[in-house]
Amino acid sequence: MELSFKDKIVVVTGAGRGIGRSIAERFAELDATVILSDYNEESLKDVAANFEEKHFSFKTIPCDVTNADQVNLMLKEAVDSYGKIDVLINNAGITRDTLLIRMKDEQWNAVLDTNLKGVFFATRAAAKYFMKQRYGRIINISSVVGITGNAGQGNYSASKAGVIGFSKSMAQELAGRNITVNVIAPGFIETEMTNVLSESVKDDFINKIPLKRAGTPKDVANTALFLASPLADYLTGQVIKVDGGMVM
Ligand code: NAD
Repeated sequence: MELSFKDKIVVVTGAGRGIGRSIAERFAELDATVILSDYNEESLKDVAANFEEKHFSFKTIPCDVTNADQVNLMLKEAVDSYGKIDVLINNAGITRDTLLIRMKDEQWNAVLDTNLKGVFFATRAAAKYFMKQRYGRIINISSVVGITGNAGQGNYSASKAGVIGFSKSMAQELAGRNITVNVIAPGFIETEMTNVLSESVKDDFINKIPLKRAGTPKDVANTALFLASPLADYLTGQVIKVDGGMVM
C-alpha cells in the first residue's frame, strides 16, 4: 500500500528545524498540505523557501506554543484557509538542562510551559475542530527520558512524562469522536538540540544503542507518517519509542 496524504491538512509545531522540519517534509512529500508553525520566523522562512523549490503544498503560520491566544489563532487560520485540519503534531520543545540544586524557576517554567503546556494549548484548540469533524490524529513528541528519567534533566523529563500522561487521558476522552492520540518517544536523534553535547557524551549514548547509531529526524518522521495513516487507525494512547532499541 502506497501511503498518501493527499487532501490532508497536517499542522506541525516547531517545524522550523530538526525533527519538526523533517516531519513536515515527509508529509509534504506524500502530498499533504502542511501548516509549518514555529516561533522562530527566520527558520520558518528558510523552510518555506526550501518547500517552494520542491513545489510542496504548505502555509507558514508563526506561533509561540506557550501563548494560548497565538495557538488558538494559528489553528483558526489553518481551518479558515483549508476548511479543516486532519493531523496535529505537537513537536515544539526545548531543553534547559541542569542539576536540581542549580535549577532556576525560569528554567523549570520555560521547559514545562513549552513542552507540556504548549501540548495542552494546541490539543485543546485542535480538539474543537476534530470533535466537530469526528476525525483527528494527534501525535505528541515526548522522549525516552519521559519514561526513564535522566540526571540533569529533571524539568525536561517531567515535561515529557507529563506529555505521556496527558496523551493517554486525551486518548480516552476523545476516542468516541474517532480522534486518536499517540506519542512518539525519540531516543538520541541527531539535531541541533543534541549537537550541543560533547563527542564523548554522544559516543556514550551510541554505545548504549543496540542499533549502534544515532537516530535521524527522518526515523522519527517515518513513525509519525505511520501513526497518521490509516494503517494506525486502531492505535490510540500508545507510546512508540524510536530509539534504536536504547530503552526496552
Ligand atoms: P530543535 O531544537 O532542533 O527544534 C525545535 C524547534 O521547536 C525549533 O524550530 C524551535 O524554534 C521550536 N520551538 C521551541 N520553542 C517553541 C515555542 N515556544 N513555540 C513554537 N516553536 C518553538 O529540537 P529537535 O531535536 O528537533 O526536537 C523536536 C522535538 O523532539 C522536541 O519536542 C524534543 O524535546 C523532542 N526530542 C528530541 C530528541 C533529540 O534527540 N533531538 C530526543 C527526544 C525528543
